[in-house]
Amino acid sequence: MADRKNSRGKVSLVGAGPGDPGLITAKGLERLRDADVVIYDRLASPRLLEEAGPDAELIDVGKIPGRTRLRQPEINQLLVEKASEGKTICRLKGGDPFVFGRGGEEALALAQAGIRWEVVPGVTSSIAAAAYAGIPITHRGMATSFTVITGSEDPEKEESQLSYKAIAGLTGTIVFLMGWSTLPEITRQLVAAGMPSDIPCALVQWGTTASQRTVAGPLSDIAHMAEEAGLSNPAAFVVGEVTSLRDELGWFDNRPLFGKKVLVTRTRSQASRLRSLLEESGAECVEFPAISIAPLEDSSQLDAAVANLGRYDWVVFSSSNGVRGLASRLEARGGDARSFAGVKVAAIGPATGETVKAELGISADLVPDDYVSEAMVDALSGEGIKGKKILAIRSDLGRDALESGLAVAGAQVDAIVGYETKVPEDSAEKAAAAFDAGIDITTFTSSSGVDNLVDLLGGDTSRINDTVVACMGPITAERAEERGVRVDVISPERTMEALVESIVEHLS
Ligand code: SAH
Repeated sequence: MADRKNSRGKVSLVGAGPGDPGLITAKGLERLRDADVVIYDRLASPRLLEEAGPDAELIDVGKIPGRTRLRQPEINQLLVEKASEGKTICRLKGGDPFVFGRGGEEALALAQAGIRWEVVPGVTSSIAAAAYAGIPITHRGMATSFTVITGSEDPEKEESQLSYKAIAGLTGTIVFLMGWSTLPEITRQLVAAGMPSDIPCALVQWGTTASQRTVAGPLSDIAHMAEEAGLSNPAAFVVGEVTSLRDELGWFDNRPLFGKKVLVTRTRSQASRLRSLLEESGAECVEFPAISIAPLEDSSQLDAAVANLGRYDWVVFSSSNGVRGLASRLEARGGDARSFAGVKVAAIGPATGETVKAELGISADLVPDDYVSEAMVDALSGEGIKGKKILAIRSDLGRDALESGLAVAGAQVDAIVGYETKVPEDSAEKAAAAFDAGIDITTFTSSSGVDNLVDLLGGDTSRINDTVVACMGPITAERAEERGVRVDVISPERTMEALVESIVEHLS
């Protein structure tokens, strides 16, 4: 029995990449998602851990270097134990598992214990940190080779295996990892061994992440310069002509929002688009699920409307959530796109229009570009809605400007709640924690988002007002001001693209 269990367990030594969560491999991500147990280090991106399954056991064996961390033999033992229980284990290691990650030792322990294991190589920081700092590790005419060296050898070792004479004679690029604390010693030894003291170097801290910082200078000064600049671990030390290309090839850390922490308050499902737009501009996003969307507890009203879809002239969706809410009830009742025969469909903005297509398989007849209710009322009025029957799918919160506007235009409106909004229990703590972590920019994309965040902060807007506040569209901004928030940026249109553009403009 024990043997059979043993044979089911498996350990994947997975390279998490250097920091940017996008730099894990496709195979590594698959192993992470499938694992029963994830055992990770300090250098694996916290964002990656969100990819683990909801029931996965997460074990941190890294912590702060030198403190409270499991020693290597204990980590090896933990891997063997968990695998012996028949579990599937993802051993997530920063960069590449076999580049100074002690992955080889873990693999040996597993092999010796007869445990199934594999390695999924990763993008090593030695190359990627340089690349994100605008430094190609090799370059025609400058460097035809590269060497990666440890800057901190096992202190128990009696004699150094490193020959600085040999290293100083290398003509290609040299990268030292784990060399932050010994940087003055490394540079001194290199110069003493005959390397030109003016050879250009760069130190890249937290490469590929939003905390990336680079200091460049000549070999003889770089240790001092890096210390002055307040750099710290983890850092990659790059020596060679190629580092001078950085002036021309810097790309990652000179994007307009680089180094800015942005609070994104939207529902989980909707925040990602804004998040990726902000991240493309270099920002680091703290996503804050102030509201989550849930199906209706009592769907009798919605069901009745769905049963009578054919009686309406128009169905109007004011959000993607509304589309999903209706689609799920339609499906539950065995209906499909044919229930919309003879009924016209309007969607507030292109994103909602796309959801209509995806969820219901039909193209919306009317999609005003502007995301506000007023634009929808104008557009529908242009279609002649006097006396027409309209089903408006709305949220349980929010303004009823759409409903009243349509009624004023002479339509007969049934406004039915299509989904419920919920405030997760731990949101208040998350809100406080986000501001503690040092937010630079707060974004609001809707009036209800403003209400939620301000309510969660107990009505105290001072922490929001310490940041740059950016609102999507004037109506959101108005609500923010009503709630005591000072608004710095208002995007002219209610689109995520316009919001990000306006933020970039404001900061430049
Ligand atoms: N297996 C890892 C290296 C582990 S040793 C890899 O392949 O990248 C840890 C050292 O890697 C750190 O001391 C630092 O020198 C380097 N390092 C790891 N992540 C880094 C990052 N994001 N930026 C710069 N250096 C990094």
